[in-house]
Amino acid sequence: MIEISRQKPKFRFAPSPNGPLHLGHALSAILNHDMAAKAGGDFLLRIEDIDQTRCTPDFEKGIYTDLSWLGLRWQEPVRRQSEHFPAYQEALQTLIERGLVYPAFLTRGEVKARVAAFGANSESWQRDPDGTPLYPSDDRERSAAERQRLLASGMKHAWRLDMEKARAAGGPLHWQESGDGETGVISADPAAWGDVVLSRSDAPSSYHLSVVVDDAVQGITNVVRGLDLFHATSIHRLLQTLLGLPEPLYHHHRLLLGSDGKKLSKSMGDTGIAEWRRQGLSPAELRRRIGL
Ligand code: GLU
Repeated sequence: MIEISRQKPKFRFAPSPNGPLHLGHALSAILNHDMAAKAGGDFLLRIEDIDQTRCTPDFEKGIYTDLSWLGLRWQEPVRRQSEHFPAYQEALQTLIERGLVYPAFLTRGEVKARVAAFGANSESWQRDPDGTPLYPSDDRERSAAERQRLLASGMKHAWRLDMEKARAAGGPLHWQESGDGETGVISADPAAWGDVVLSRSDAPSSYHLSVVVDDAVQGITNVVRGLDLFHATSIHRLLQTLLGLPEPLYHHHRLLLGSDGKKLSKSMGDTGIAEWRRQGLSPAELRRRIGL
């Protein structure tokens, strides 16, 4: 008899504890939870706290309180990224050994100055899909001897993906999308991001590197998140391919907009879930408010 092995669907909500959760997070968490339930799968929670300067235990506690109040239950144990730095280092090491990343020594200020020195042409300096200027080519073009010399001198550095080499190694890439924007088979365009940072001088990983490692380690089959991360999926597909990791299905959902027409954000101080709760809103009313 032929045995057909079926992978159990696994969904995850992956907030960063760097501020109170807002209604956009509620939408994302509830969608993940409900889609997992409908698929007979698991709903996992991951705390993305690699940025130890902005993430706090209080914000993390707030996440558990808010999600419980919304009536969501998740599988234990919760994966906290700050407890898995060696896993991200190992992935980075694989890319170092393959010559697909390089040490990047320019500081943020130096990059800014370089873009400004472009003068009247600053506007034409190529930017990534989030509007950040692409990293200059200086460090990519250094000779191996010069790199060794700078590393040996103990100079602070990040590690960046050599996008051109990485793309050549990865080949043409796609993903399967079922969200609220473009759907179907989407062509990945990682080159639009330039030489993305994979590990910082002050944090031993980056969002892009840890997210692909964790989705693989946790066996995530379905990534459901906001449309603001649609284009980042191009980088994730490239890293998954380079690291030999499985490819999840993607669903990028609509974003909630504030009264100013901009997407909700923690930094803008948009009303958090906890604040709505204090004002007496019920979980059912909150669901209606976000169109569920
Ligand atoms: N930690 C990310 C955020 O809070 C989400 C990452 C993801 O879902 O891939 O925006």
